[in-house]
Amino acid sequence: MKGAILREPGSLVVVDDLPEPPAPGPGEALLAVRRVGVCGTDLHAFHGRQPFFSYPRILGHELAVEVLSVGASVTHIRPGDLCAVRAYIACGACDACARGVTNACERLTTLGVHVDGGMRERIVLPAAYLHPAPGLSPDAVALVETLGIGAHAVRRGAPDATDRVLVVGAGPIGLGVATFVRARGAEPVIADLVPERRAVAGSWGGYRTIDPADEGPAAVRAVFGGELPTVVFDATGSSVSMHASLDLVAPGGRLVYVGLFTGDITFHDPDFHRRELTIVASRNATAADTEQVIAHVRAGGVDAVPWIGERVALDAIPEALPRWAGERGSALKGMIELPG
Ligand SMILES: [Zn+2]
Ligand SMILES: [Zn+2]
Repeated sequence: MKGAILREPGSLVVVDDLPEPPAPGPGEALLAVRRVGVCGTDLHAFHGRQPFFSYPRILGHELAVEVLSVGASVTHIRPGDLCAVRAYIACGACDACARGVTNACERLTTLGVHVDGGMRERIVLPAAYLHPAPGLSPDAVALVETLGIGAHAVRRGAPDATDRVLVVGAGPIGLGVATFVRARGAEPVIADLVPERRAVAGSWGGYRTIDPADEGPAAVRAVFGGELPTVVFDATGSSVSMHASLDLVAPGGRLVYVGLFTGDITFHDPDFHRRELTIVASRNATAADTEQVIAHVRAGGVDAVPWIGERVALDAIPEALPRWAGERGSALKGMIELPG
């Protein structure tokens, strides 16, 4: 069968002699891949900048899959079902798993990062990681993973209608955060340095946007009636932004780091204590987050169409992915479409 293999940094090839996956064992399902969303994780891997990554690797963790067959004891899905995939495979045995913090399992493996992912025609996965999404388009199903990151971050930050909320970063993750902030009754303002991203957030999300480079905290205060936001989500993964966001939170407020970078975050302790800040991390998403996303999309809360910037066939990904990696500022998602 056909698949895309990242042989080493910078060398992505499509082959047609990948071995067929085995018949699904107990608790597993054989799946036809219908869509693969591409994100920064894939682009970093292509450039060799993804930590804990080994080559060769089949990328692809934002998947819409169709069930072909199921193994023994699989009852919640059946052939023909279109499913979203929770791409973070937990060990089920560590203390974090025992406490239900499966998204931060001590031995977590991520599809398309630590093990081969979905840029291929067929794949076998544990059925427990498949979430049927009746009524959703394949495009919408492929967005569920991205939106789940946002839903989980909003669960961590827990804003309500009384909060002033700022989302820093208007890429797909930041827009997913904004979606679920709104679902909780607050109206987020989105900050991004890139005009094209602000334009996207403003035009199809209807969000108020600001350029954080303009005047820093003063620009932020200006959109919140002179006060600072009570909940700030930083979805940039930028060291500069993540440090700057520390100064944007009102007393008693919460700062949620959604994006991450490989380095240290430092702050002046009196600034932290004086405002009695709460700083939390958000990592991946849980089964409950994934179900929340599917229900929200089914209820009409997200229209998948405007999220997708360009769609390509699997054959075209060796040309498209390096091009997407070189584009700065697009808020939109590249999507691989497989026939089905
Ligand atoms: Zn992703
Ligand atoms: Zn575990």
